[in-house]
Amino acid sequence: MAPSHDETPFPTDPRGRLAVAEALRGARTIAAAGHLPLDGDGIGSALGLVHALRAAGREAVCVIGGPVPRNLTFLPGIADAVRLPGALPFVPDAFVALDGGDEDRFVPMLPLARSARHFLDVDHHVTNKRFGTASWVDANHAATGLMVLGLIDDLGLPLTPDAALCIYVALVTDTGRFSYSNTDPASHEAAARLLRHGVRPDEVLRHVYRSLPRGRLDIAAEVTRRLATSPDGTLAWSEVTLAMCAEAGVAPLDAHDAIEVPLALGGVEVAALFREQERGTAEPAATHVSLRSTTTFDVAAFAVARGGGGHRRAAGFTAQESPAAAAARIVPDLQAAVVHHRATEVGR
Ligand code: AMP
Ligand code: MN
Ligand code: MN
Repeated sequence: MAPSHDETPFPTDPRGRLAVAEALRGARTIAAAGHLPLDGDGIGSALGLVHALRAAGREAVCVIGGPVPRNLTFLPGIADAVRLPGALPFVPDAFVALDGGDEDRFVPMLPLARSARHFLDVDHHVTNKRFGTASWVDANHAATGLMVLGLIDDLGLPLTPDAALCIYVALVTDTGRFSYSNTDPASHEAAARLLRHGVRPDEVLRHVYRSLPRGRLDIAAEVTRRLATSPDGTLAWSEVTLAMCAEAGVAPLDAHDAIEVPLALGGVEVAALFREQERGTAEPAATHVSLRSTTTFDVAAFAVARGGGGHRRAAGFTAQESPAAAAARIVPDLQAAVVHHRATEVGR
């Protein structure tokens, strides 16, 4: 994710880029996958790369390791992707892991990835652990999709309308429709190029942000009803429970965007959403914690300390407990970290 104007740029990684491009150039067969849980940038990056490789006559396949969010099922190429545990049409020379800072975000794909000669890690998270045989990590990019666009150029692959659409969805979702602090001139320049290659923004809007089932609006209403704030109003949080999802007929994954509810409240500097995860009957409760910051408070650092990762202003981690238990434990820590940050910043 690109740094915002009030932050210093991240290091670039030209050697990583060269190494990844070189491995892709030499690979006869290529598999590409976005991190789990799937999101617009991960899956858009994987499909975008596969479309461009195939258009150049290369053997490439997108691998899908988990449920696809409902609003992304329209993406071209989804139907041809291999859904694990399905078998690939070939043994890949290269496996490209997209938009995930850690191997543990690719768990069902790991045997496949490790069996490939090249396990390529292409990502824009500051917290990336460089887990590939080659890694290209550059947090200056607003979306991993833009790194894929860079690889398409490096390899001289055609930017087909399908590739452009998938990359646009990666970009539009990770920048919050070109509005988060990572939105920079490069995001808009890339968008202009993608539009010239056939992308229709209104079609993307309709598929990705509208066309919601009624239950998704009911979830937003319930998330609003359960909204809690710190006494000074700078922290806001809410929850999405499995019971709420069952009642509304919505998969928890499809309620991911509900973090926008606490984030929209005036005066909020840090927002959190505690989203209960689907699980087998015997498995204990687990909650995905989404964090957003509107100031220089670094939520990635907070998430890393709890086994997760992300960007300075958007990060997440998993807690092995119910949303209510997670909130009771984590909100005070978050509050303390924000207070500490404010104190140290004033002293600078
Ligand atoms: P989310 O709140 O799920 O939208 O995540 C915000 C950002 O943090 C995204 O860039 C995620 O890829 C990243 N992130 C979320 N959860 C994790 C995790 N458990 N480990 C590493 N990165 C994460
Ligand atoms: Mn992602
Ligand atoms: Mn991303």
